Amino acid sequence: MTQVFVVNSGSSSIKYQLVDLESGTSVMGGLIERIGEPGSFIADHVEGMQIVLDELGEGRDILAVGHRVVHGGSAFAVPTLIDDAVEAEIDRLSELAPLHNPANLLGIRAARAALPGIPHVAVFDTAFHQSLLPAAYTYAIDAELARTHQIRRYGFHGTSHKFVSEEAARVLGKPYAELKMIVLHLGNGASVTAIDGGQSVDTSMGLTPLQGLVMGTRSGDIDPAVVFHLKRHAGLDVDEIDTLLNRKSGLLGLTGMNDMRDVQEAAQQGNADAELALQVWRHRIRHYIGAYYAQLGGLDAVIFTAGIGENNALLRRRALGGLAHLGIRVDDDRNELMSREARVISPDGARVAVLVVPTNEELEIARQTASVV
Ligand code: ADP
Repeated sequence: MTQVFVVNSGSSSIKYQLVDLESGTSVMGGLIERIGEPGSFIADHVEGMQIVLDELGEGRDILAVGHRVVHGGSAFAVPTLIDDAVEAEIDRLSELAPLHNPANLLGIRAARAALPGIPHVAVFDTAFHQSLLPAAYTYAIDAELARTHQIRRYGFHGTSHKFVSEEAARVLGKPYAELKMIVLHLGNGASVTAIDGGQSVDTSMGLTPLQGLVMGTRSGDIDPAVVFHLKRHAGLDVDEIDTLLNRKSGLLGLTGMNDMRDVQEAAQQGNADAELALQVWRHRIRHYIGAYYAQLGGLDAVIFTAGIGENNALLRRRALGGLAHLGIRVDDDRNELMSREARVISPDGARVAVLVVPTNEELEIARQTASVV
């Protein structure tokens, strides 16, 4: 019995995969969308889950169900067997992730009701970053307020950062516990993590996934005073500013396009906004590489993953160009080779290995789920 059913439940969707642990492959999977939307025939997550289970069929020998949960706050540093108390804690943490945790919970409740006989495990996006020390996760604001409202850096994409960094160690043939690495997870959402001996020691996302790199629609780092300025001078209220920074900023805000492929094409055709957006995107990445190099006190590997990181050789080259003084170099032929495999793209003998490692969050969730049951 080596199959784990992985569920990623969003507010109007359920993504699912049946992962075979022995082969590390997905046996089946899919996506149910438009749950509860007008005109949709799927009223709620209970109905959605029933459709998923019908698809899955009877008589499957499933070891456990692994649920992706976005925010584990400071409560969850490891994958956790779900009972009613754990459900209640995930619910309580909705304050920190109002869009995500309630949606994750709908999936958990529907799946536990439909599959009561098998263990359900929560795997948190924040868990890998619970190793951050106070110096890295504390915001320099009123300490009492911060404690009361759980305000600190948490970090996200943890499942991906852990998976690709372990894969990178395997590809390099070196012990994970001895490597200093910087992982660039560059998808629609994007984050960078410094990993020292298998422990996350710093990461660019914060209290929420808004902080850090320039993303498809999120601003990443800004001076917090921009918020007051927008309120006082542009007449926006807090919800409008939230929407602006989370959904109308980043590449979209700078260019009107949120897909990096479109931005890149426009830049190639001479669109000045698009070219500037690429420069800002690159500048921010290099800012973090320098900072994390210093925090780590050395560097063995830089790893690219997610949509942009896995697929775009030109942007990888652009991101790391001119960093030879740090020992970071990219071999053009290796970089341009298209592949679905984890691979090294730095030249032989380079001080810092540069790798492309396709992420597989479902496999990582399945593995972590199995480790608990
Ligand atoms: P998510 O962050 O939603 O999980 P992914 O990691 O799959 O998404 O990344 C999706 C994003 O990757 C898309 O929005 C697209 O902009 C970008 N992307 C995918 N392929 C390429 C490519 N070849 N060049 C540039 N960007 C790409």
